[in-house]
Amino acid sequence: MSEHQGYMKALKCRECGREYPLTATHVCEFDFGPLEVAYDYDRIKKSLTKAAIQSRPKTMWRYRELLPVANDPTVGLQVGFTPLVKADRLARKLGIRELWIKNDTVNYPTLSFKDRVVSVALSRSRELGFDTVACASTGNLANSVAAQAASAGLKSYVFIPSDLEQGKILNSLIYGARVIGIKGHYDEVNRLCAEIAGKFGWAFVNVNMRPYYAEGSKSMAYEIAEQSGWRIPRHTVVPMASGSLLTKIQKGYQEFVKLGLVPETKYSVHGAQATGCSPISVAQKAGLDFFKPVKPNTIAKSLAIGTPADGFYALRVMRDTQAAADDVTDDEIRDAIKLLAETEGIFAETAGGVTVGVAKKLIASGKIPRDDSAVLCVTGNGLKTLDAVDGYVGKPREIKPSLREFEALLANEEKVNA
Ligand SMILES: *Cc1c(COP(=O)(O)O)cnc(C)c1O
Ligand SMILES: [Zn+2]
Repeated sequence: MSEHQGYMKALKCRECGREYPLTATHVCEFDFGPLEVAYDYDRIKKSLTKAAIQSRPKTMWRYRELLPVANDPTVGLQVGFTPLVKADRLARKLGIRELWIKNDTVNYPTLSFKDRVVSVALSRSRELGFDTVACASTGNLANSVAAQAASAGLKSYVFIPSDLEQGKILNSLIYGARVIGIKGHYDEVNRLCAEIAGKFGWAFVNVNMRPYYAEGSKSMAYEIAEQSGWRIPRHTVVPMASGSLLTKIQKGYQEFVKLGLVPETKYSVHGAQATGCSPISVAQKAGLDFFKPVKPNTIAKSLAIGTPADGFYALRVMRDTQAAADDVTDDEIRDAIKLLAETEGIFAETAGGVTVGVAKKLIASGKIPRDDSAVLCVTGNGLKTLDAVDGYVGKPREIKPSLREFEALLANEEKVNA
């Protein structure tokens, strides 16, 4: 049995605990609870030691026993192990003792954290015999499914809201994916995809493959813990769309504690949203354990999910880790993108602006104390959302190819700065 399932035991309902076979299915038949992968941790503990991990290639697959594939992965073997950057200049600006950026703007191959989840989803889809993969996406997921399906020789359909950033649309088309723009917001795209998934025999990475797909996010937590010297950071700030990444960061930390890879310490996993789509942070701030759906209106399109599938569980993680949530306006997002770029040389997309902007607020309000240490999850690359900052970063000054003109420009600049 175990040789067909790897280190997985079953799919398990998060609500009632009923177990299901490890197929392409995602909801419990009895209570419609979401299914999650359950593992054989006793077996994992024997094989996944620090020494074993450190002997393996620097990719997310060095934690392979904790990722839901039965056999060795076949898609996205180079994904992950992005830099954890000590951000002293940004720390000074935000007024905190120690700050780190988990820099998924340079994830392979499509420059966002979604490469992690897609690598897992497509590897598992292949194991289950699918030849066509699909997704409902706010942009980055579509890019990653398109690219990784291309490299794996799988056929792909990606469904996106038709008003996405040009960069995100092009970044799906270039790989030859069938890109379907839906005239509606993400929640409508998602609803349509649930219908399509039931009708066609495709692997929808975030519908029927969601239990496997979502587990890929845990790799970010494992890397943060290993790169922090095998410990869990006191504070982690995570952007929230469906809320899945935030819940999986906590699950990743919990698993490392359970396996004895890190000491058990107190930690908080804080959530970040854009004010224009903030169902989870609004509920958190009001002390509620459920959210009210909203209609998104923000430049942070990658996070624009008005009915977040894991919102309820994200709220629970924040409550259990005594964490906070907050949200930032479009102007604050742009300012934070610039601040991160000017202090650390990292150009993040709008979701990164949301994370940095919210971290700034949580530090200012004392919810992240100034003498603590924090890790900010920066999840996507600014080159894909140029529209968001176009017109907000000034323009190059133009001169003729003449030394005299350049000297005049410099002299003028000194006058202005004096
Ligand atoms: C998808 C995405 C997230 C978070 O997604 P969840 O649905 O909350 O897991 C964060 N940042 C970026 C850039 C994304 O594309
Ligand atoms: Zn159930």
